[in-house]
Amino acid sequence: MNPAPLTTRQHLMDLLTRHACTARDLASHVHLAERLVEDHMAHIMRSLERSTSQQFVMEEPECQGCGFAFRNRTRLKRPSRCPRCRSEAVSSPRFSIVAKQPKGKKGG
Ligand SMILES: [Zn+2]
Repeated sequence: MNPAPLTTRQHLMDLLTRHACTARDLASHVHLAERLVEDHMAHIMRSLERSTSQQFVMEEPECQGCGFAFRNRTRLKRPSRCPRCRSEAVSSPRFSIVAKQPKGKKGG
């Protein structure tokens, strides 16, 4: 039997549940431009906000020059430069999807 092919978004979500990926990693997997991947990511992030079983995780980008961490970042794009030292060597944020711990215990 031939399983139905995954949609691009399903493919991205599948990749993200396996390991953390940057937008560039994902773009090369699904043969899309990075900005299109980021568009998908925004939708995935939003849809997982309501999920009770899975959680979207974004690792903070970090400046390679001074170690500045871009905390509480809501945008998915890599920052173009560090606000502290002006270096453009900023790591790309990595995304992943992890299982949520269920609330409350059932049975044993
Ligand atoms: Zn810096």
